[in-house]
Amino acid sequence: MTSPRGPRDRRVSQRIGAIAESATLKVDAKAKALKAEGRPVIGFGAGEPDFPTPDYVVEAAAAACYDVNNHRYTPAGGLPELKAAIVAKTKRDSGLEVTPAEVLVTNGGKQAVYEAFAAMLDPGDEVLLPAPYWTTYPECIRLAGGVPVEVFADETQDYKVTVEQLEAARTDKTKILLFVSPSNPTGSVYTADEIRAIGAWVAEHGLWVVTDEIYEHLLYDGVETGSLPVLCPELADHTVVLNGVAKTYAMTGWRVGWMIGPADIVKAATNLQSHATSNVANVSQRAAIAALEGDLSAVQEMHAAFDRRRKLIVGMLNEIASVYCPTPQGAFYAYPSVKGLLGKEYDGRRIDSSADLAEYILEKAEVAVVPGEAFGSPGYLRLSYALGDDDLVEGITRLQKLFA
Ligand code: PMP
Repeated sequence: MTSPRGPRDRRVSQRIGAIAESATLKVDAKAKALKAEGRPVIGFGAGEPDFPTPDYVVEAAAAACYDVNNHRYTPAGGLPELKAAIVAKTKRDSGLEVTPAEVLVTNGGKQAVYEAFAAMLDPGDEVLLPAPYWTTYPECIRLAGGVPVEVFADETQDYKVTVEQLEAARTDKTKILLFVSPSNPTGSVYTADEIRAIGAWVAEHGLWVVTDEIYEHLLYDGVETGSLPVLCPELADHTVVLNGVAKTYAMTGWRVGWMIGPADIVKAATNLQSHATSNVANVSQRAAIAALEGDLSAVQEMHAAFDRRRKLIVGMLNEIASVYCPTPQGAFYAYPSVKGLLGKEYDGRRIDSSADLAEYILEKAEVAVVPGEAFGSPGYLRLSYALGDDDLVEGITRLQKLFA
């Protein structure tokens, strides 16, 4: 093969060619394929609730299918009724007061992540990215021409970065801090005091914050926390909030998320979306209106199950010698350190990385987990506990036996 000589010889652009496949979706796809072959695979890979979408939401969507207005293009930035519901929901749930002009409805929270960075970053702008991080953030930052600057916090600090660490990573090119609490992949939750301290530092240096609140309702142990722009009102004009219906209402497949931010940024992102995708599917938007206008009983039911499974999985993981899993206070992920299992031989095979370990676990125990490499932190595994209790116990029991 000869090396590409010019643009016409380059089949895939350098910008897009540099994007890695989503590691979490890859693990999930591999586990589902093995399952389809009849193998008894237990999947801890997927970041989605195992519950169905509530009936009243599905019924609203079914009715919406028969309304011809939903068969047509609607405003690229979202149905006015959905924007109004997002404004009301935001005030109800986090206490943040916004106007419809500050809201953009997106194709899932993921599109909001992409568009927020695309709307705000110029080439070379740096984004402070606490690690372990959700795989999508660095890719979206790079696609926008930005530079992700990782700030790593390990299990001894509950995977939460400190102001001192952030300050050490700040340069004159730093524009944005990416903030997510509860976190994917660690489940860590910043306390209100920790958020206030970080917010004060952001304000002091004139930075921006992109804060991802998609797991806002999945909090445990009565942890005291809150929304960053509410706890730090001085940052209101420098904050973009990302959210969506996926995790709260078991609606991952419906693809409805949103961005809340200063009107000029929201307008810029809306212009981008108007050329990329136009409006989010109207039936999905109607379903989201029903979800947001309803109460929070669906998430409360899931919350009780997740809390039970959280205690179960953390307890069982910590029974494995050389594994340490802090107790997460949010979301539905456990993030154990498996560094103590590495550098050893298993069945005559030396395993040196968490990526190798995840592969070995899938082969030998038929259990799917996501390696820390996917989240910028080798030496860890992410296990989603959004699966049935029996499967959870069976899956972790297999790991206990594998490493006994
Ligand atoms: N933010 C975080 C932290 C997530 O974990 C996810 C889903 N994995 C999203 C945003 C996006 O969710 P969706 O696109 O399904 O709304």
